[in-house]
Amino acid sequence: MSSRLPTTAECVIVGGGVVGCSLAYHLARRGMKPLLIERNQLGAGSTARCAGGVRQQFSTAVNVKVGMLSLQLLERFDDETGQSADLRQIGYLFLASTSQAAEQLKRNFEVQRNAGLDDVRWLSVDEALELFPDMRGDDLTAATFCPSDGLAGPNEVVSGYAAAARRHGAVIVEGTAVDAILRDGDRVLGVSAGGEHIDTPLVINCAGPYAGQVGEMAKVDVPVKPYRRHIFLTERFELRRRPPMTVDFATSLYLHPEGDGLLLGMSDPDDVSSFDTSVSWDSLEHMLQHAAWRLPALEAARIRTGWAGLYEVSPDHQAIVGESPDLAGFWLCCGFSGHGFMQAPAIGQLLADVMLGRTPEIDIAPFAPDRFGHGETEAELAVI
Ligand SMILES: Cc1cc2nc3c(=O)[nH]c(=O)nc-3n(C[C@H](O)[C@H](O)[C@H](O)COP(=O)(O)OP(=O)(O)OC[C@H]3O[C@@H](n4cnc5c(N)ncnc54)[C@H](O)[C@@H]3O)c2cc1C
Repeated sequence: MSSRLPTTAECVIVGGGVVGCSLAYHLARRGMKPLLIERNQLGAGSTARCAGGVRQQFSTAVNVKVGMLSLQLLERFDDETGQSADLRQIGYLFLASTSQAAEQLKRNFEVQRNAGLDDVRWLSVDEALELFPDMRGDDLTAATFCPSDGLAGPNEVVSGYAAAARRHGAVIVEGTAVDAILRDGDRVLGVSAGGEHIDTPLVINCAGPYAGQVGEMAKVDVPVKPYRRHIFLTERFELRRRPPMTVDFATSLYLHPEGDGLLLGMSDPDDVSSFDTSVSWDSLEHMLQHAAWRLPALEAARIRTGWAGLYEVSPDHQAIVGESPDLAGFWLCCGFSGHGFMQAPAIGQLLADVMLGRTPEIDIAPFAPDRFGHGETEAELAVI
């Protein structure tokens, strides 16, 4: 095992999910030689459990812009990495069924337009029903739709970035855990992994829901908590028209076509923070109640399979990206709060630029790790 690990590295990325792989690629493309260390297999963490949704409809301007940049990067993913991202731009339809949800959608819509998202549309209920004629619409008051949002393939994006990162000189090691971060006073000195010490001046914490634990290794408080989220897939399901990715904003229920069935997801307000990823069939019941209200034909649906994975939740549901204020050389790229798949392409590029002293295309100051404890932060409210 140790023979695969170098004894020094320009930087060490801890975690080979979609975020670590994107960062490895963008750093390597800019001439750095990162060492990425993944304790399991690349992409086997939260990334493997995710619904593949990629959207630009958020409540904060920075997240709208990050979503737009990620979409652009996914659109030219083949050219950049030589592999397909399996991008399917089927659109995201957000539905409001309460006056509070409608008001929030209206605010989000204005933020999105002001941030330059020109193709997002404010829809009447009839227009929303045209896009999804099988759903119940009598309780709806408003909707928004962005046709360039959609889905991409988590495996495809991870393997595309990892292969391209290697071609540009990154070293990627799987099956090895980072078990200590070495410091010299207020500076990073290296990491210990697989029984070896690796000298490095830069460590980037891309450990997803485990970012808090990796923070502890460096004696740095990283406020990221794991929360279980479920997905269920139906068996073959006939609809008059294949709907876009549809989000019931008031309940957080979402669904989209997957193969010849539907994929359903929803947060469960009763879940407390834990690393538990076992499937709770009570969650299925809770989800199906809401799903069958919105789509009555689901009463007769049969569930083919289901799984659970972890969201990596920060206090304001915004990513935490930048150098730790408490330890020089220790960088954070975590806390994506359930949006890490869609934010990874852009964040990899933006953070690589910041780390190399270049001006990033989007100012990522709103994600600064030192924002907590300095009064109000701007929370992301379009969280599902
Ligand atoms: C059910 C569900 C649905 C979701 N749907 C969407 C969606 O539609 N769109 C979207 O954008 N996001 C979605 N997400 C969120 C998304 O999956 C995550 O935000 C994203 O995958 C985070 O990527 P990551 O690389 O940070 O984390 P991960 O993929 O979890 O990768 C972190 C890696 O770090 C490794 N690691 C941890 N500790 C160590 C260590 N000490 N040493 C070495 N390696 C270590 C882990 O093994 C893991 O592979 C969903 C999540 C879930 C659970």
